Amino acid sequence: MLRVAVVGSGPSGVYTAQSLVQRDPEVLVDVLDRLPCPYGLVRYGVAPDHEKIKSLQHSLRTVLEHERVRFLGGVRIGADGLSVARLRELYHAVVYCVGAASDRRLGVPGEELAGSWSATDFVSWYSAHPDAVAAGDGFVRDVRTAVVVGVGNVAVDVTRMLARGAAELSPTDMPQAALGALSASGVTEIQMVGRRGPSQARFTTKELRELGGLPDTEVIVDEAELASDPAYGDPSALPAAQRRNVEVLRGWAAAPTRGARRRIRLRFFLRPVELLPVEGRVGAVRLERTAPDGRGGVTGTGRYEDVEAQLVLRSVGYRGVPVEGLPFDADSGTVPHAAGRVLRGGEVAPGEYVAGWIKRGPTGVIGSNRPCAKETATSVLEDAPVLARRRLPDDPLDSLRAMGAEPVQWAGWLAIERAEAALGASLGRGVVKLPDWAALRAAAGSADGSRTAHASVDPSHPADRPS
Ligand code: NAP
Repeated sequence: MLRVAVVGSGPSGVYTAQSLVQRDPEVLVDVLDRLPCPYGLVRYGVAPDHEKIKSLQHSLRTVLEHERVRFLGGVRIGADGLSVARLRELYHAVVYCVGAASDRRLGVPGEELAGSWSATDFVSWYSAHPDAVAAGDGFVRDVRTAVVVGVGNVAVDVTRMLARGAAELSPTDMPQAALGALSASGVTEIQMVGRRGPSQARFTTKELRELGGLPDTEVIVDEAELASDPAYGDPSALPAAQRRNVEVLRGWAAAPTRGARRRIRLRFFLRPVELLPVEGRVGAVRLERTAPDGRGGVTGTGRYEDVEAQLVLRSVGYRGVPVEGLPFDADSGTVPHAAGRVLRGGEVAPGEYVAGWIKRGPTGVIGSNRPCAKETATSVLEDAPVLARRRLPDDPLDSLRAMGAEPVQWAGWLAIERAEAALGASLGRGVVKLPDWAALRAAAGSADGSRTAHASVDPSHPADRPS
């Protein structure tokens, strides 16, 4: 048998596990995650109102319930956890599918002001990530106008969540505190700002179009602002995805305003140069008007506009985080690899692999992880005859326990699911996510046959670290 550890239980990790066990009956896979909950960004990134995408969890689940796949949550690899070298000793092969856990910076003065957040912070909060900043209702309290920087799908997600009302949010699994805050919010205007032109926006048309269907909300596009994009006037030569985006924007630009309660303004050719304070918090964003440079980029024009904003969400892309003990290319935020095989000093490191965003950068939709995972699984299986010669300890789970970790197994996760259903029922809602480590630990620890939850959820947590 070939024993493989997959680190990370998001789509790339689960698709890697699936590809391995489907293609080779001699493979056993442990899917490790630092959280006690599986599914990565499908659980903690996909917006709560995107139930259809969220339902992907059902197909990921069947993989994690496969007889040769085992979920081991609450195991951190790297700094403050099990070292990469030790993990390598426990398995014939280790595939890192750790995603891109951080966010890119704007690099402008005022970025650190209160009220300026990365979109990742905001998403983690409404997704009940246990490491989310404890902002309470601080994201939206006293906010009338918000600026979202960036025109990718995450920018569309956070814009939509700001514009949604209680009736649409309460059927979701959003944590109760975020539901209360967003339902009560007085945000009436959201400006989503792109530094380049409409034909260069990164959002996908389906997501863009959804903004036009939000209750009590209208989308406003100023044709004059978009017109300096040559492809705006005649989008026919654009690739289909961009052409459709431009067509949707043109439709909105041509529509009369309706005077709806909330407005989403889609702005282009504006780049943030500074966040301006009012009474110690962000009060406005200074934007510089840009112009196309004819090579796909833009140049500044020296003309500025200040847009009022009590909330700024910086949605300018994710960034990979190094795993201690693994090579890392800081420029791309990825691990150097050849067809998924980790390269150390340019040479293949036997038995170490990557898949997903840590391999190719934070781009693409969930389905993009399938071919990416398949390529890596192919490399693992090609190398298997040599890798499988190494003798291993009997069961890595015993070794993990001997080292003080107490992984949350599938029964623990199922107990968390039951606790979330019970919480929702007690609130008169559907499933409602548990929002913090303590609740997750308690729920996981209540699983039949599981050991007590102490030290079981996150060995990196000070209270849980074995002494
Ligand atoms: P993204 O698609 O890379 O978009 C980042 C945006 O930030 C771009 O508009 C980019 O503009 C802008 N930007 C970057 N640096 C900037 C700066 N310094 N100043 C101003 N603007 C800046 O990233 P994302 O939205 O985080 O999405 C990540 C991935 O997840 C994407 O592949 C996305 O499709 C996917 N995703 C999909 C869904 C869905 O399918 N529903 C939902 C969420 C996320 P430039 O183009 O000019 O660099």
